[in-house]
Amino acid sequence: MTKLIWKWAIYGKMVIKMAKIIVVGGGAAGMLAAGRAASRGHEVHLYEKNNRLGKKILITGKGRCNITNDSDVEGLLENIPCNPYFMYSAFYHLDSFQMQEMLKDLGLEIKVERGRRVFPVSDKAIDVVFALERYMIQNKVKQHLDTPVSEVLVADGKAVGVKLKKGTIVDADGVIVCTGGLSYPGTGSTGDGYTFAKAVGHKVTKLYPSLVPLKASEEWCSALMGLSLRNIEIKVKNPKGKVVFSEFGEMLFTHYGVSGPVILSASRHILYDLPAEHKLLIDLKPAMDEKKLDTRLLRDFEKYANKDFINALGDLLPQKLIPVMVYLCDIPADKKVNSITKEERKRLLTLMKALPLTITGTAGYNEAVVTAGGICVDEIDPSTMESKFVKNLHFAGEVLDVDAYTGGFNLQIAFSTGYTAGEQILSDL
Ligand SMILES: Cc1cc2nc3c(=O)[nH]c(=O)nc-3n(C[C@H](O)[C@H](O)[C@H](O)COP(=O)(O)OP(=O)(O)OC[C@H]3O[C@@H](n4cnc5c(N)ncnc54)[C@H](O)[C@@H]3O)c2cc1C
Repeated sequence: MTKLIWKWAIYGKMVIKMAKIIVVGGGAAGMLAAGRAASRGHEVHLYEKNNRLGKKILITGKGRCNITNDSDVEGLLENIPCNPYFMYSAFYHLDSFQMQEMLKDLGLEIKVERGRRVFPVSDKAIDVVFALERYMIQNKVKQHLDTPVSEVLVADGKAVGVKLKKGTIVDADGVIVCTGGLSYPGTGSTGDGYTFAKAVGHKVTKLYPSLVPLKASEEWCSALMGLSLRNIEIKVKNPKGKVVFSEFGEMLFTHYGVSGPVILSASRHILYDLPAEHKLLIDLKPAMDEKKLDTRLLRDFEKYANKDFINALGDLLPQKLIPVMVYLCDIPADKKVNSITKEERKRLLTLMKALPLTITGTAGYNEAVVTAGGICVDEIDPSTMESKFVKNLHFAGEVLDVDAYTGGFNLQIAFSTGYTAGEQILSDL
C-alpha cells in the first residue's frame, strides 16, 4: 500500500495540501487533466506511451484540428447521441467558450468556420498541441514519454498508483485514466483503459467503430474511387426498409464503398445493426423534385438529340459518374438520345434521385474517428469523473461511454471531462 507523504504548497495566499497524482495518457483529455490538477498545486506526473504528446490531435480535422464547436451547452448536448446528460456537469466545469478563452490565453489564435467549427488560425493541428503543452509546462506537470502503463494499482478501495510496462511501481494518491478508445490504434489508443477499468470491477459497454467509412457490396464503387459529391442528400434504410438517417451534404467514394461527412454521420446511426444490410440511397439532385428534374432532362436531351446517350449527361453529372449511371440504367451507351424512350428516361431519373448502394459493414477502427461505447457512465460520478467503486480513481475522454458527431464535439468531450477530473481529484484534501 502507498505511504502518503503530504507536502504543503503555497498557492496564491492559500496553503494547500499537495498530493501526487498520476495521469495515464497524454491526449486531449490527459493534457487537460494534468494541467488542471497541477494548477491546483499538486505534483502531477503524466505517463504517455508514445514519444510525443497529442499524437491523435495531429491528425484531427484533416491536420487542421477542429478544436471545438462554438456552441452553448445545449448545442453541445444535441450533438451527443449517447449519454448526453452525463456531460452536463463536465460542460459546466469547462464549456466550449471557456475552452476557447483558455487556448487564446495560451497564445493560440482561433477562428470559427461553417457549422460553428473552431480551428486554429494557422490551420495547423500541431499549434493546438503546442498550446496544450504550454498549459502543462506553465503548471509544472512532469512528463514521462515512451512510458506505457500496464496496470492501475488499487488498495483498500483506493487508487494508490500504477505499474509501468517495464515493471516499476509508481505510488500516487490519485490516478486519472485518459487512455482514449480504440480508433486509429497507430496513435496509441489501443483500449488499455478498458482493461484497467474492468480489472477494478467496472463494466465496459459494447464497443463499436463510429464516424467511420462504410463498405458497400456494389463492385462499381471502386471505379468511382476518389469521386467527391457535393450538395447531395442521402437516406439510409434499415433491413426493414425504415429510413433511419437522412442528411444533405458531401460524400465521396472509396475503393470499398463510401466516406465523407454525411456518411460518417450515417455510420453513427446504423452501427448497432451492422453488418445487417442497409440500403443507402443517394439523391444526386436534391434541389429538384422529380417533375423539375424530368423537365431538365428533356431540355438536355433536346440539346444533345443527335448525340450518343453517354455524351448527353455532362451538364448534369460529374464525368466519372456517367459510365456507371449509363450501366445502371440499362440504356445502351451508344443509343442516340433522340431515340430514348419515356420509360428509359424515367429509369435514369429514378436513379438520379435515388442511386442505391448496399451497405454491408464499416471500415473498422483503423479508419473510425471515434469509438462508441466504453466505460459505463452509470458507474462514474459525472461531477468529478471519479469511479463510484474506487476512490481517487478518475476516468476522462474517449475511454468513457460518451461520443458525439463530427464538428469539434468529441474533442470538447475530452477537454471537459479531462478538466473536470483534474479539478476534482482529491478535492476533499
Ligand atoms: C482521424 C481523426 C480525426 C478526428 N478529428 C476530430 C476533430 O477534428 N474534432 C474533434 O472534436 N474530434 C476529432 N477526432 C476525435 C478526437 O480526436 C478524439 O475523440 C479525442 O482525441 C479523444 O481524446 P482522448 O484524450 O480521450 O484520447 P486520445 O487522444 O486517444 O489519447 C489517449 C492517449 O493515451 C495514450 N495511452 C493509451 N494507453 C496508454 C498506456 N497504457 N500508457 C500510457 N499512455 C497510454 C495514447 O498513446 C494517447 O496518446 C478525430 C479522431 C480521428 C481518429
